[in-house]
Amino acid sequence: MNTQVLAAGEAAYTKAAELLRQGQLVAFPTETVYGLGANALDAGAVPEIFRAKGRPADNPLIVHIHDEKQLDGLCTIPEAARPLMRAFWPGPLTILMPRTPRIPDCVTASLPTVAIRMPSHPVARRLLQVCDLPVAAPSANRSGKPSPTTAAHVLEDMDGRIPLILDGGSCDVGLESTVIDVCHGTPVILRPGGITEDMLREVLGTVEVAPSVLRPLGEHEVALSPGMRYRHYAPEGTITLIDGDEADVVRALKLLYEQAAEDGRNACVLCFTEHMQTLEACHPHDLGSIHEPGQTAHRLFDVLRSLDDEQMRVIYSEVVPAHGIGLAVMNRLGRAAAFRTLHARDVLASAAPAENRPSDQ
Ligand code: AMP
Ligand code: MG
Repeated sequence: MNTQVLAAGEAAYTKAAELLRQGQLVAFPTETVYGLGANALDAGAVPEIFRAKGRPADNPLIVHIHDEKQLDGLCTIPEAARPLMRAFWPGPLTILMPRTPRIPDCVTASLPTVAIRMPSHPVARRLLQVCDLPVAAPSANRSGKPSPTTAAHVLEDMDGRIPLILDGGSCDVGLESTVIDVCHGTPVILRPGGITEDMLREVLGTVEVAPSVLRPLGEHEVALSPGMRYRHYAPEGTITLIDGDEADVVRALKLLYEQAAEDGRNACVLCFTEHMQTLEACHPHDLGSIHEPGQTAHRLFDVLRSLDDEQMRVIYSEVVPAHGIGLAVMNRLGRAAAFRTLHARDVLASAAPAENRPSDQ
């Protein structure tokens, strides 16, 4: 199959809508990441998404709409969802809703709920309006790869697998939507994203974060969100996160890089802009400013993709505080690293000669 990349515009929307109506797949930008869409009501088209991505069939999809009226007959809207829809739609918030049998089982992996989102990106909105279909769309990457934040990333993964990619430039948020469950008592964030815990708490009063957001799922633990079961965003090399005081972290990164390089491993560090110069000999990749976790969110997937392109085998990374958008960053970065973390002081204490060990103050 020949994959066409078209700059977003009326002719491209018409073509994309036609393909969707015929049961074919179209990749398109949203404010979070690029999505790979199919008509959500077409039980013949949706399985094509799983095939193109290599996605396990038990990992359900998010249904994208441009107008709340599209939900009539598809799902019931929980009372707690209404203030969220008013506050955050259109935008990067996905809400679980009890579904009707009109939604094919393949969309929800036979779960009783369906995940719904109204994106705010002008290209996604216009496409959804022109095709006038609810569109099931997971991220447009091959399963296990970082989500795509540019049309070039989508092409890298989907060339020859889908007929059309709409190019709308690079995505603003850069991480996938926040997923929230308001169907069972206290609302629970299943996946953190651009709409933060604090923003949700302001509207809902109370909200919890699913425990597996910042740690691996236990062997017999049931995933509240099936996607959490799977290894995600993992580069081929091994990422280790380095936590601790800023100055110690920078020294530890340098030391660990030098050890790996001495061993002849292809190594690099992921660090904040402020540390790029100090770490210039350590093959640094820029995560954005230490003071702007939104920049780290925006860049993270692009940086993770470049690690495989450069065949990096050993990767050491700084971390951001896990609140605000930082919670979403640490969820993705943590999973990319299989939550492997070292404390900078331990690294310095065990590896350095006595005179270089961290001080006690
Ligand atoms: P993706 O669109 O690839 O970013 O993945 C969609 C995410 O939404 C996955 O993590 C799914 O597990 C989650 N999801 C979709 N539908 C449901 C549902 N009905 N219940 C729980 N999680 C869901
Ligand atoms: Mg995904």
